[in-house]
Amino acid sequence: MPSSKVVITTHRSPDGDAIGSSLGLYHFLILNGIEASVIIPDPDPEFLRWMAGHEHITVFELDQEKAKSLISEANVIFSLDYNRLDRIAEMGAWVEKASAKKILIDHHIDPATYFDFSLSDTSASSTAQLVFQFADNLGWNSLLNKEIAECLYSGIMTDTGSFKFSSTSAYTHRVVADLMDAGLVPDHVHNSIFDNNSYDRLQLLGYALSNKFEYDADLGISIIGVSLSEKNRFKYQKGDTEGLVNYGLSVKGSKMAVFLSEELNFTKFSFRSKGQVDVNKIARAYFNGGGHKNAAGGRLDMSLKDAINYLKDVIQNKISP
Ligand code: 5GP
Ligand code: MN
Repeated sequence: MPSSKVVITTHRSPDGDAIGSSLGLYHFLILNGIEASVIIPDPDPEFLRWMAGHEHITVFELDQEKAKSLISEANVIFSLDYNRLDRIAEMGAWVEKASAKKILIDHHIDPATYFDFSLSDTSASSTAQLVFQFADNLGWNSLLNKEIAECLYSGIMTDTGSFKFSSTSAYTHRVVADLMDAGLVPDHVHNSIFDNNSYDRLQLLGYALSNKFEYDADLGISIIGVSLSEKNRFKYQKGDTEGLVNYGLSVKGSKMAVFLSEELNFTKFSFRSKGQVDVNKIARAYFNGGGHKNAAGGRLDMSLKDAINYLKDVIQNKISP
């Protein structure tokens, strides 16, 4: 498709997999001579901005005119790491009415049916792994280079919790081996993403763990919530609370952990669970969200205080055994 204009989109509050898979695919397309661009709904955290090609990303929220014209002129629009248009906020309306063919590459449950082509695999560790597979199926493996390898590795590494989640398969490791053959140095990527903390971020982490952490040993449920004013106190930057929810789940005997982060007019929820506790179902049923069985998110138009009360009510009356 040499004369095609391709737009790659990914979800709101982009994470390592969203950015890594999008830029990985972007480089593959560019190397094939295809005019491609990446559009994200809102800015991503600082610690992802080192990836090659990042400077070419358009942020819908910051550059609406450019983003809208790219979307409406596209022949093909990829949806990466999300499968429903409500995950891309106001951008969804523009993508929906665009005349482009819509292609989904994603690993979340229950994809919407509006796509013309779907590579949707809930067993895949990450969308970045699926982008690798997609490119491999098209015979593009000879194009794999260090830049692509670093982008895809970022997605795989972050979405597998550095290869510890159960979604990590033998194939995941084979993909990473190929990425290393293409020039990837894993510890460089690891350092760029995880050893990039500000002093304030660590202070916020310490504060949240010592002052805002509730654990119910009978239920095996952890709750950590931080308010907007607390985030401001620690000069909160996007991404600063990423991973905090995992501390809740690391308590011995913990079955489910919830992290709540207050924003201006709503509170965002992150859910993590172990084993059979299905947080995707819980997030869908009560928190306006979704995700995977053991990792999901949601949001409600409530203050932190109301959101915690609501959460406790749901735990007590709807989901406790
Ligand atoms: P996180 O807690 O890291 O923000 O998100 C965990 C998982 O839940 C990710 O797979 C993400 O795609 C999904 N997720 C997070 N927030 C939402 C949301 O508001 N709606 C839906 N449907 N999924 C979400
Ligand atoms: Mn993902």
